[in-house]
Order: sequence, then structure tokens, then C-alpha cells
Amino acid sequence: MALIRHHIAGTATGDDTRTGVVYDPATGAVQHQVVLASADETAAAVAAAAAALPGWRATSLIKRADVFFRLRQLLVERSDDLAAIITSEHGKVLSDAKGEISRGIENVEFAAGLVHLLKGEHAEQVSRGVDVHSVKQPVGVVACITPFNFPVMVPLWMTASAIACGNTVVLKPSEKDPSAALFLARLYEEAGLPAGVLNVVQGDKVAVDALLEAPEVRAVSFVGSTPIAQSIYERAAAHGKRVQALGGAKNHMVVMPDADLDGAADAAVSAAYGSAGERCMAVSVLVAVGDEVADALVAKVAERVAGLTIGAGTDAASEMGPLITGEHRDKVASYVTGAAAEGATVVVDGTRQDFPGDGFFLGVSLVDHVRPGMKVYDDEIFGPVLSVVRVASYEEAVELVNTSPFANGTAVFTRDGGTARQFEYDIEVGMVGVNVPIPVPVGAFSFGGWRSSLFGDSHIYGPESFHFYTRSKVVTSRWPDPSESQISLGFPSNH
Ligand code: NAD
Repeated sequence: MALIRHHIAGTATGDDTRTGVVYDPATGAVQHQVVLASADETAAAVAAAAAALPGWRATSLIKRADVFFRLRQLLVERSDDLAAIITSEHGKVLSDAKGEISRGIENVEFAAGLVHLLKGEHAEQVSRGVDVHSVKQPVGVVACITPFNFPVMVPLWMTASAIACGNTVVLKPSEKDPSAALFLARLYEEAGLPAGVLNVVQGDKVAVDALLEAPEVRAVSFVGSTPIAQSIYERAAAHGKRVQALGGAKNHMVVMPDADLDGAADAAVSAAYGSAGERCMAVSVLVAVGDEVADALVAKVAERVAGLTIGAGTDAASEMGPLITGEHRDKVASYVTGAAAEGATVVVDGTRQDFPGDGFFLGVSLVDHVRPGMKVYDDEIFGPVLSVVRVASYEEAVELVNTSPFANGTAVFTRDGGTARQFEYDIEVGMVGVNVPIPVPVGAFSFGGWRSSLFGDSHIYGPESFHFYTRSKVVTSRWPDPSESQISLGFPSNH
């Protein structure tokens, strides 16, 4: 059994003093042990990042960009190997793992444009003989703390922009699927990134606490569940750090009576059950406007899910893999069994589906007549469970979405341009789809939710990340003509 270790200053470190287990979710077997960092080991990673900072910051922008061009190529060439790692530890099907890699590559492509993105501004002659310009400088050492569900894409959301801006990084991936982060760190170094610029610390709360307290860490990017995101935001801010902490989600897909209901049902099934619902942008609530729409959608979704193939992610026939752990699978199942007692109608009950072996598989569920106040509605389930909430009008649908504590993504399905435009205007959610169920912005835009789906004021990747990972400095300069030199004690005025 392999021991998955840290990657600090280009070297594998860490012993088995404190370890966690890494499962193969398709078989339920423990396949690796992962070292869990002590505070001292985490401090060593921070020290390595701090030591690498002056050299990386001084590296020319063109040379920095070279790393990202090469990294992009390596990610394309090694995507089969990387997808196999994702599938073996996370469980998602290989095609989905490849999709995650391709979305992560968008972030690398964006970062490769760093020469343009780091340009400041200049104003000539703001006063006689005085010019002003602004520069964007790296913040320093950045801590990146990532969740289990996208072990490649989310680390690339953060590391690509942070490193492009001239920072050095300590990445703390999820201890549930830790190998992909190591693969990424080695790929960065193969692409020319100096050792120490990107360090990986394996671990749990102990490592996170050490990162939050380290004075050298100047900024924290976190993605994970809402309670942890909120606590990270508060603690990192209390230690004077810049912080963005993205939390959980409960994404509503509103279907209007004029929508193409077959298209909407296809979209709902894809977005609810893809990756076993373990996506922060998964559709978990179908909001049907009118009972006629609800009845038709429930029938169409039920008909479609009957044909889904659930199996090991490595099997090309599988459309959905297992969940991340047995514990999580059982928690997800408890929401379905509890829904009937709460007064909802379980139309498709995935908890009754049997699977051979000990893998963490669960069938898909569809629950109708769900209302706010039921646990199946209120909690983020993060599994293959789609709830249907019936509303009478567009206004009621908007009210439902806008009063959810989560506000990551949402979508409206309609054929009416006016309705779509009004939805875009009215809805209080960070990412909105119009006939697009999973509106994850392309890499040239930034990603982020509102309310308890994001703590902080900066969205992640894209243009906002270049703001988050840099500090701006404004320089006012004068090159006086020595012949005009004089003493003046008045406050310098530009008029
Ligand atoms: P999680 O919150 O359990 O863990 C996220 C990270 O925090 C991991 O690295 C973990 O080791 C660390 N962590 C866990 N408990 C901690 C604690 N008490 N103190 C400090 N650190 C701790 O999340 P997860 O289960 O790995 O991932 C799933 C969650 O992430 C879901 O809620 C999902 O919606 C969310 N997510 C959100 C987005 C987004 O963009 N908003 C994207 C992906 C995932």
C-alpha cells in the first residue's frame, strides 16, 4: 500500500506518524495511506514557499508565461494518466474526470496571458512634470485549500492565477483524494516551475490551522462546505489575511411552462446525477412552474433515470460512479428515506437499488412535492438526489431561489427572451444559466456564488483572481528640471 506524502521544495517528505486512508470508492477497499501533516511539517512547506518567493517574483513575466504554455501541453498529453488518478480515488467516471481536466486547462490558458493581465495604468502630467502609474505586485505566500470533488480543477482554479501573479503557494488538497495534487505539482515542475514555488501539504484541520496562523501566508483561497468556508473566512481574516472562501450550494433549475420540457428533462438528469451529484454546480432542486409542468417533468425525469448505468468509473459503459465514502453514501441515503416522513413523495428511490461488491454506490433518487423546511430541501445533500418543488408562478419561483441561503448557481428554462432577461435581472445568485443547467463560467470570466456560497468579495479564477492575488501600488513621480528647484511647504496640489 503506497504512502502518499507531501511535496515540499520539490521533494517528497512526511512519514506515517499520523495518516488517513484513501479508498477506491468503486470497491470500498483502502488503497493508500496519506500522511497528515503536523503543524511543523506545514510550517516547513510555508518556509519553502517563502524561500522561493524572491526568485519567482523576480522571474520575468515572459518566462513565467512559458511555464503555463508548457503546463498546458503536459496536461493535454498526460490527461489519461491524470484522469485515471482522479477516477481511482474520487470514483467519478473517466469521461467526467477528463471533463474536469479540460476545465482546469482553461485556467492555465488564462494564466498564460499574464503579461497582459498584470499591466498597470499610467497617467502622464497629472501635475506639471508629474506622472502616475500603478503596478500589481504579488501578495506573497498563498494557501490554497481544496475539496474532494474536483481534485484537479479546483487546485488549477487557484494555483494557475496565484503563481502567474508571482506568488508562491502551499496547496492543501482533500485528504480523501490527495494524489492528483502531487501529480499536478510534478507537472508544474516539469513545465519549468522552480521547486518551492508550489508545495503540497497533505493533511486535515491541523494543517489548515497552521496555514491560517502562519504569518508568511498573506492570502487564503478555500473551496469546500459552507460551515468550514465560513470558519476559514473568519479565522483567516482575524489573522489579517486576504481571504476568499467558497462554500456549498443548492442549485435551483426553474422550468417555465413554455420551456422545451424534453430538453429540460435531459438537462435536469445530466446536471443532477452527473458525478453522482457531487458537484457544487449540480442541479439539486427542480422548480416547476405549474402542476402541469411538474407532472410532465417528473414523468420525463423518471423515465430517463430508469436507463442510467451506474458502475465503476473505469468502466466505459458507466454514466455515474460511486460516492466518495461509505459514510457519505449512507448520509445521502438518509435524506431520501427521511423525505417520505417529511411529507414528500419519493418517486424514484435509489436507496433500494442493489449493487454487487462493497463499492460506495447509490442509485439515483427523485423526490416530488418537496417544500422549504424539509431537510431534503434545506440541506446540501451532495449526492444523486433531485428534489422537485412545485410553484404557481414565476414570482414564486424567484422568491424561492432568492430566499435560499445558498446562491451558487441557478438556471431558467424558457423559450421566452423576455422571461429570461427578467430572470437574469431579478435573481440573486452568482452564476445564472439560461437554458444552461450548469453555468460554470469559461476561464476568462470569474466563478463565485453569493450569500453562504461565498465568503469574501472576490470570485475565483479569471480576472477577479488577478485582483485577489496581487496588491496594487500607485507611484507618483516627478523628474524635475534642476533649474526649477525651489522650497515649498504647501500641500502638493495637482491643480
Ligand atoms: P469540506 O469542507 O469537508 O473540506 C474542504 C477542505 O477543508 C478539505 O481540504 C478539508 O481537508 C478541509 N477541512 C475539512 N474540515 C475542516 C475543518 N474543520 N477545519 C479546517 N479545514 C477543514 O468539503 P468537501 O467535502 O471536501 O467538499 C464538498 C463541499 O465543497 C461541498 O459542500 C461543495 O458544495 C463544496 N464545493 C464548493 C465549490 C464552490 O465553488 N462553491 C466547489 C467545489 C466544492
